[in-house]
Amino acid sequence: MGISDLIFRKKISYDLDTLESIQSIAIPVYQPIKGIVSPVNNIEYILQRKATEHKRNGRMDLAIACLCKSNEIFPHSNFLWGKKDYMRLVEFLKEAGRFEDARNEQTKIDKLFQKDLTTLVFEKTLLDCKSLDIDLVQSTDNSCVCFECAKYTRRIFSISGKDKRFQILPPYLKLNLKEHEYCFNSFYPFFFTLSIPSWEYKGNLINWCNRPYVDERTPEQRAYYKKRVCESEQEVLDRNNYDMLREKLLVFTPKSFGGFRRMKSLRSSNYLKLCNVAIEKGINLDKTPNFSIYHF
Ligand SMILES: [Zn+2]
Repeated sequence: MGISDLIFRKKISYDLDTLESIQSIAIPVYQPIKGIVSPVNNIEYILQRKATEHKRNGRMDLAIACLCKSNEIFPHSNFLWGKKDYMRLVEFLKEAGRFEDARNEQTKIDKLFQKDLTTLVFEKTLLDCKSLDIDLVQSTDNSCVCFECAKYTRRIFSISGKDKRFQILPPYLKLNLKEHEYCFNSFYPFFFTLSIPSWEYKGNLINWCNRPYVDERTPEQRAYYKKRVCESEQEVLDRNNYDMLREKLLVFTPKSFGGFRRMKSLRSSNYLKLCNVAIEKGINLDKTPNFSIYHF
């Protein structure tokens, strides 16, 4: 039993060693956090740690129960938990061979995180502008954007379209489009008479913001974006393949995803054997992602 468990038990007298007691933990009511605090005394954090301990001791049922409970508590926490934290449950379910449950949990988590970063920033900026009663936003010089998004960097836009000195803010940014999944666009409220743009420009600011809409990325920025998309998409595909291997060919499957990727990049003899066995089950381990939707 660790120190955290003692603190936890002292506060709410549950034990984390039976399914019933884990499942009966009530959703806590937290006070809002002030300043920089760590969540180490939060129940959901302690449950996550306890899951690791149960897994190490071969009690996957208890480990999964802890993660189910912490995922249930996360949205009510005073700490912001990310998708990666929620996804531990999915991974543990797969490791336990519970693939159907893993898919169901994945669907729930995807729904919670369906908005991409650009959309969240976009919505926050619109709210900020509304509360400040201003209509203008500036876009920044972003290093990770596609060919299309690159046309909208380093400009000022009118949210409503009523300020004819500037173009209307492109509405596609709030649509969570798959083709812009890896683009990061940020916008900030702009006071025309007070704000100074965060980028350099030449000549008159209004003329600058209406310059031709072309891709102005440097070769390095273009290469960085392409690398990020290709590597991320390949990882998603490899992970799906690895999951299919785990589900359909348990005996041949490497112990970890990292191990699988290492053998794949080395094209080891075991990997080539695995490819042959997998192909009989309809799994092509050497498949490459379809990049055609992305604007490199
Ligand atoms: Zn884009």
